[in-house]
Amino acid sequence: MPMPTTLSSDSRGIILPCPACNSANRIAFNRLGQTGHCGTCKAELPLPALPVTITSEENFTKLIAGSALPVIVDFWASWCGPCKMMAPEFAKAATKAAGRAILAKVNTETLPGISNTQRIQGIPAFILYKEGKESARTTGFQPAERLLVWAGVV
Ligand SMILES: [Zn+2]
Repeated sequence: MPMPTTLSSDSRGIILPCPACNSANRIAFNRLGQTGHCGTCKAELPLPALPVTITSEENFTKLIAGSALPVIVDFWASWCGPCKMMAPEFAKAATKAAGRAILAKVNTETLPGISNTQRIQGIPAFILYKEGKESARTTGFQPAERLLVWAGVV
């Protein structure tokens, strides 16, 4: 089994594979930051430490509104060179921020409605959301450490 590089999500939570039995466990947005146990084998689940793929507008809206942790969203596209350079830095930042922030990715090509409502112009763009509201935004490639300092997650 290859290691996943991102986590999936839906309108109710983040889907976390159990490290012991590989069952998919849904972590509700309002419980992010807490540890839990696998619904199948009861093993302790790790805190989400990978970027979360946003799969729909409803998924995005519910995550931003419901997350118990601050959310840093990376708006990217496959044709964007700096976005590709940014991907491993964003993944590193997600690992460092485990338990303190959720890092999520919006593909602006497949989810253009979100880019529109969030008024995204240049990419990669990063928006920090706290308690359902935009708190800060920045654009362009940046190392993981700088992104986390910008977001106040260090
Ligand atoms: Zn399990």
